[in-house]
Amino acid sequence: MTAFKFGPYPISASEIFYSTRNVFGLVNLKPVTPGHVLIIPRRVVPRFADLTTAEAHDLVIAAQRVGKVVEREYKGESLTITVQDGPAAGQTVPHVHIHVMPRRKGDWADNDDIYPEINRKEGELGRALKNRVDAEAERKPRSHEEMAEEAGKLRVFFKDVSQAEGGADIWNN
Ligand code: AMP
Repeated sequence: MTAFKFGPYPISASEIFYSTRNVFGLVNLKPVTPGHVLIIPRRVVPRFADLTTAEAHDLVIAAQRVGKVVEREYKGESLTITVQDGPAAGQTVPHVHIHVMPRRKGDWADNDDIYPEINRKEGELGRALKNRVDAEAERKPRSHEEMAEEAGKLRVFFKDVSQAEGGADIWNN
């Protein structure tokens, strides 16, 4: 059984919904939008430039496939797909990850306010926009049970991919 890690954190396979030989999809501990998920290489490397060609390929293909499903399942109309590549760019977990977030018209008063929200720097954003502060205060870490339930719902859409592309291990737990 493969041990999954997100940076220094061990990840339970039950919180993973997408898996191939090079990458996995993880539900978010503190989602910014409903359906905000992360696509992560299995190998723990901090920077986008550290990825092999195969990993970079699989990561982007995974973002395409997963984006299509979460946009549909969470009734989005668009997607924010973003990478914070290095600490100066806001990366908090030193392991490459693509954020995939379903978006709807008007979900944020100013469309690009979603970027500082991803960072959640304490106090910094509060002074700028009150509604963002309220949203942040409400964004508590989710329980393992809640995350596993969401991963279970999304996982069914990717069973064939897991079996065909070397990621069956999430189904064996
Ligand atoms: P970044 O600031 O770009 O490094 O994003 C880190 C992301 O990882 C945030 O969306 C966090 O909510 C999420 N996160 C951190 N730890 C975990 C974890 N153990 N499981 C799932 N998501 C996590």
